[in-house]
Amino acid sequence: MPPTFAQLGAPSFIVSALAERGISQPFAIQAATVADALAGRDVCGRAPTGSGKTLAFGIPLVARVGKAQPHKPRALVLAPTRELADQIKTELCTFAGKRRIGVAYGGVGYGSQIGSLRRGVDILVACPGRLEDLISQGQATLSAVDKVVIDEADRMADMGFIPAVRRLLDQTAAERQTMLFSATLDGDVAMLTRDYQRDPVRHEVGDETPDARAAHHVFWSVARTDRTDICAEAIDAAGSTVVFCRTRHGCDRVAKQLNRRGIRAAALHGGRSQPQRTRALAEFAAGEVQALVATDVAARGIHVEGVGAVIHYDIAVDHKTYLHRSGRTARAGQSGVVVSLIQPDQVTELKSMQRKMGLEQRVTDADVTALRQPARTQTRRRTLERPAAEHQTRHRPRNNSRSRPKGRQRSAKR
Ligand code: ADP
Ligand code: MG
Repeated sequence: MPPTFAQLGAPSFIVSALAERGISQPFAIQAATVADALAGRDVCGRAPTGSGKTLAFGIPLVARVGKAQPHKPRALVLAPTRELADQIKTELCTFAGKRRIGVAYGGVGYGSQIGSLRRGVDILVACPGRLEDLISQGQATLSAVDKVVIDEADRMADMGFIPAVRRLLDQTAAERQTMLFSATLDGDVAMLTRDYQRDPVRHEVGDETPDARAAHHVFWSVARTDRTDICAEAIDAAGSTVVFCRTRHGCDRVAKQLNRRGIRAAALHGGRSQPQRTRALAEFAAGEVQALVATDVAARGIHVEGVGAVIHYDIAVDHKTYLHRSGRTARAGQSGVVVSLIQPDQVTELKSMQRKMGLEQRVTDADVTALRQPARTQTRRRTLERPAAEHQTRHRPRNNSRSRPKGRQRSAKR
């Protein structure tokens, strides 16, 4: 029997709040880290998306955070995207008791974020860019922060936030607890650990990369001109689906074409406003929209239960992207189908990608009947983690929706 949350040392107000949500059995990463984190140790945790990292750091934070003075939060959670920050806040609030949780991220007005900082925020969940803005405006000071969580550190690195993360950590209390969570712990993330964690206990759970085998993967040879029709049929068969396109423009076009074919689809990309993205996600989570058509960056961290299929409308640029995209389905032991629409001239590229993931499926003709999933479409889904980047490119981490990153594969806006 794995330990209960109470046995791991969680206070009873947290244990009962979690129990009310039906959460009583710790997931592996929680069982591995909660006790150490409650004891004040630095923790470095590697675990795949969906493994329960939010509670792994959230329980110790809520249990041990001090009470904040105005503008001086006591704990800081850094997250790469505003949707992720929102989702962390929402999750923490379900068991936070009297702790005050605030957020700081860009793309929305300053008013309410400043207002709550002024009233006092015990735990601040923030994206680096907006937090630096608020600090430079004198609205937030990090000197009283003695607990820091860096969530999704690998994505933070992918998005070019490491320098900002370092600047922020440098402003927190020298005597502090630092917890870092990431799907991978190499490269820039290893440097963060080296420079900002003190004798961290390291817990690694699951495979380094998401397990591709959890989902059923098919690779269909589809003429360019037939892609939208096949895509529409596949969504109709599979239920709720995340469709990946390479560019923002491609997302808009495919979403429009799907709607014309009777599939309720919404585009999700960095060119849409924050309210538009929030609405698209909420509608998808509620089952009002059948398909989210997303770019890779916008879809980071999409975490909706019961996604029946992922469709690679445009082939993924590499196997890591393929795995990240595909990880939107077949989560937490559920089933899911991953469909790639392949052009004849992409087969060689595909084969080399498949080799890296240990997938061996042949490219076949489209067979939509294989996707039918009884009853899945009826289940109401819950948004757990929301996608989309606070910032869209690595070169200009502030309000950069008009910038274009260099390089062939990155030449289109995402
Ligand atoms: P990660 O950050 O690792 O991607 P999350 O923390 O977002 O994963 O957790 C994924 C989902 O699992 C969330 O909906 C969360 O509420 C749920 N969850 C986390 N821990 C447990 C648990 N011990 N029992 C049941 N559900 C859990
Ligand atoms: Mg998470």
